[in-house]
Amino acid sequence: MLTKATFILIDFLAIVDIFFTVNALGRMKEDYARYLSHALKAAVVAILANMLIAISFHPVFAEISYALYFASINWIVLFLTGFGLLYTEHQTITRALTKPAVVLIGIDTLSLAGNVIFHHVYSVYEKTDLAGIVYYQTVFKIPYYIHLAIDYTMLFVVLLALLYRIRKNYSMYRIKYVLILAVLLLVVLMNLAYMTLELALDASVVFYAVAGTLIYFCIQIFVPRSLMNVAIVRAIDDMNEGLILFDLSHKCIYANAFSKVRLKLDTSEIGLDREPLATILKSIRERGTEYGQEPYVKRIENENGQVLEMHYNFRYNELTDVKGRSIGSYFLIEDTTENFRHMEEIRIAKENADAANQAKSSFLASMSHEIRTPLNSVLGLNEMILRSTEDPQLKEYAENIRASGDALLGLISDILDFSKIEAKRMEVKPAPYSMHHLLRDCYNNFIQMAGEKGLYIRIDCDETIPASLVGDVKLIRQILNNIISNGIKYTKVGGLSLRVTASAVEENTCDLRMEISDTGIGIPEEEMGHLFDAFRRINEKENATIQGTGLGLTITKELVTLMDGTITVHSTLGKGSTFRVTLPQKVADAAASGEFRLHEVDSAKNQYHELFHAPDAQILLVDDVSMNLKVVKALLKKTQVQVETAGGGLEAMEKCRQKKYDLILLDHRMPEPDGIETFKVIRTDGLNTETPVIMLTANVVSGAEEEYEQLGFAGYLSKPVRGEELEKAMAGLLPKKMVTYV
Ligand code: ADP
Repeated sequence: MLTKATFILIDFLAIVDIFFTVNALGRMKEDYARYLSHALKAAVVAILANMLIAISFHPVFAEISYALYFASINWIVLFLTGFGLLYTEHQTITRALTKPAVVLIGIDTLSLAGNVIFHHVYSVYEKTDLAGIVYYQTVFKIPYYIHLAIDYTMLFVVLLALLYRIRKNYSMYRIKYVLILAVLLLVVLMNLAYMTLELALDASVVFYAVAGTLIYFCIQIFVPRSLMNVAIVRAIDDMNEGLILFDLSHKCIYANAFSKVRLKLDTSEIGLDREPLATILKSIRERGTEYGQEPYVKRIENENGQVLEMHYNFRYNELTDVKGRSIGSYFLIEDTTENFRHMEEIRIAKENADAANQAKSSFLASMSHEIRTPLNSVLGLNEMILRSTEDPQLKEYAENIRASGDALLGLISDILDFSKIEAKRMEVKPAPYSMHHLLRDCYNNFIQMAGEKGLYIRIDCDETIPASLVGDVKLIRQILNNIISNGIKYTKVGGLSLRVTASAVEENTCDLRMEISDTGIGIPEEEMGHLFDAFRRINEKENATIQGTGLGLTITKELVTLMDGTITVHSTLGKGSTFRVTLPQKVADAAASGEFRLHEVDSAKNQYHELFHAPDAQILLVDDVSMNLKVVKALLKKTQVQVETAGGGLEAMEKCRQKKYDLILLDHRMPEPDGIETFKVIRTDGLNTETPVIMLTANVVSGAEEEYEQLGFAGYLSKPVRGEELEKAMAGLLPKKMVTYV
């Protein structure tokens, strides 16, 4: 039995609870939340009225309190109905019913208020409970049942609305309405129980507070949560990846559809000790880790009886809560079959491309070799004519042969360079160099060619250019050579101006700017975009007489890019072109180089003169082509070195066992054993293990130079061998005491 004090305390707690719920509802923006909030505010009035009833000491006081209580119940039901209808998304019905319902409840409220005056809805009488406590109780009259009928009709409408939604909606959304229905039914049952039991103190009002809180939790937390859970499970089931969750005791708590279908497993069967999980875990642990990933191949038979390989990647990981505490583990399974097939295709394509590239490289190597070998004889013997004849006519013919041979060599070099760039094997090898030297070299290289066409070459080099720069001078020379030779090729009158400046960028770096202008035929505007395209020549018909492959500028551009520089072109048709190259260079010596001066071109430049005499030097020359032996021997004649020849590797090895030489010149490509095999034997066996060996080769494809260096060759000269170059290389390698420079 409730005492009045406990009863009032419970009511008071209910009001506090409502206060918090109303506060929370205030933060929601939905209409139904507003209605629920109103219902709870009316419930506060009902609870207060209930407290007044409990402490009533006079029948009139009790009667007024009962009037307030019944009226507030009316309004609770009205607002609850509004909430129910809006929550079940029956906005139209709500709009249609609001006004009549408010009028009806208004009249009912008035009739309750009038009850005190007219005494016709209910009457109040005194009652004493078992503990002897006196209360005022009500006796209902017919009009009160009308009032009750209005309330229950409204609640009935809400129940219908809820049932309608429960029936109409997908299972996932049913939960939303079932929860609200349950709470409302509980309110109604509590109310009915109070009326049937005719309890003196109506504690059921407390349930308005509890119901309000429950509804709030349902709509704000349970419903969204359960909706989210259902949605997540659906989404995970639809995923194209497998997910298996285990709790801390390694019991499977969830496996999505992918895992079950693809691995043909039942949730009850899935365990860390079942295949394929056990094998995968074993492999991961063998690597010394608890978690990790592992590929897995499953063979399945399709409907045609074909066995297909399905590739998966299993990722095993720890499952942690928001605070990082371990709460289990999970497998993520990814189907990598497509990736695997793509990778296979790429691998095969790459293999094919590599093979094709290999074929191209070997074609280029042999083409280069095949052209260079006879050219070696042609140019070598031509050199002999130049050296020995005094007949001007004959000398002119021989000069022409040399020029054509040089052009042919240039073409081969361009093609090889291009393939080197394509294969990304062109490397930048920076070293200190002097800009003045480089410019002088360029000038000397081209002045004759320009002079023959009546063209000038002017060089203007900024005095402040650092005395020593660091860059790949070989590549920079190649860039200048390409642009200058084009300038000469495509200019009929006038000449070329080369201007070089440098601007400091940082303490040890500068931007080197080289500007090469010509007064040539110019480049049409529309062709500018294709200037750097490989194998593309402009005005092919008009320029047909000018030698070229259309590779020069492509290579130039690639080299500039390789060195992180830029190249731009400005050209006016008929007036000339200007190529501007900017290259970032390191500075080795920042002192200004001063005024640039061209040394007088040695008028006897083309007049051969041997570099040294070494009559005691013993040289072994190895080549399988007797013509080459003859050429090299003739080229070295004036140096007075003693040349012995060997027609092949075996003969060379034999000779090396018998005699110690001061230098060996060895051809690369020979029938078995080739130059490299011969070299290896000489290095380990006989009297010449220490003798410097220069490789003479027609193989100048990418990587050859590095390869020879690695093998231990003292030097490497490409065919056709030039007399001067050969002498220069030999002079540095022969014992110093034997060499007398002339
Ligand atoms: P090519 O071997 O034909 O000279 P390049 O790549 O060096 O190949 O040049 C491509 C084309 O650009 C040339 O065919 C030529 O028509 C044009 N060209 C290059 N330099 C000049 C220049 N200085 N003046 C006019 N045209 C030029």
